[in-house]
Amino acid sequence: MTDTRYLVHGVFWDGPAPASAPAPASAPLQGESDAGRAVLRLQQVSGDDGGRTAPGAFTELALDAGTRLGFRVAADGKSCLGHSKVHGPADRDHVSCPARAPAARGSQCERCFVLDDSRLIHDFHRGGRVPPGLRAYLMQPHWLYIATFAGGASKVGTASHLRKWHRLAEQGAVVARYVARADDGRVVRILEDMVTRDAGLPQQVRSAAKAAALAGPAPAAGLDALNRRLAGEVRELLSRVPAGGFGIVDEPWLRPGLAEAACLVDGARARAGRHPYPHALDAGEHGFEVTSLSGSCALAGLAGTDLDFIVNLGLLKAKTIVLGDYGSDVPAVQESLF
Ligand SMILES: [Zn+2]
Repeated sequence: MTDTRYLVHGVFWDGPAPASAPAPASAPLQGESDAGRAVLRLQQVSGDDGGRTAPGAFTELALDAGTRLGFRVAADGKSCLGHSKVHGPADRDHVSCPARAPAARGSQCERCFVLDDSRLIHDFHRGGRVPPGLRAYLMQPHWLYIATFAGGASKVGTASHLRKWHRLAEQGAVVARYVARADDGRVVRILEDMVTRDAGLPQQVRSAAKAAALAGPAPAAGLDALNRRLAGEVRELLSRVPAGGFGIVDEPWLRPGLAEAACLVDGARARAGRHPYPHALDAGEHGFEVTSLSGSCALAGLAGTDLDFIVNLGLLKAKTIVLGDYGSDVPAVQESLF
């Protein structure tokens, strides 16, 4: 019998958004415990036969506070995660890579990269042609937001209406504010490009930078003040845009409870005892307890030490792992502190 191998698709924040206000007493209590939850999504790789087996089923590991995650990396390099077909605002299919090919472009092979609908999203507002399902997705209302990450790096971004909250959770924002609601995905991307051009805000903050910042973050109060100021400047900029198709809003994003400990670092222990995870995730055995999660970055504890580590679980994407009672070596950083 061989160990079950899984292809890692990544960390997903797909549960219901946490309620921003107490529900009316008459409303049924629904999904409260699921609100703001995250999972590590895995696809079973059935056997080791050189990739000829039909792609397997999906399984999800909940990444709650207290989850113990143990695994070993079971293959070199990355394998293609397939592609998606978008049928509408809340309807998309995942198509597995038939060849289970090595990933050549990020986490996809050349073929799946070309077939992926989401590749077309970024050219839609410049007049690019899109299939009807993707068009229906893009024509739903979208939100423009300003997000600030640990360390103060900030960006402008967009979220579809149905992913309004989730988009920021998966990005690992520490503080964020919505600044406009646009009629569709074309208008919101025109506004996004304008904010980048005129306010100098980038559209991307690299995940390695987010992970590094979480390992030595700035106090949350300063980040909130920074985000408030940037959002105010962007609203001012938007107020001078003569075109229609959007409305300016001033609405905070609610950070998930699961991310609190990773983002909140006011305290001596958090500052002194937090380190980047010292082992590369492309080989070897790993095991730790997840105590908090911001985007794809876990605040994790290792058995045998009181130190906290920031593990960028996003680095597992497209890697093949075997789950089990594995543990990470306690790094030498401990001895250097005592
Ligand atoms: Zn592929």
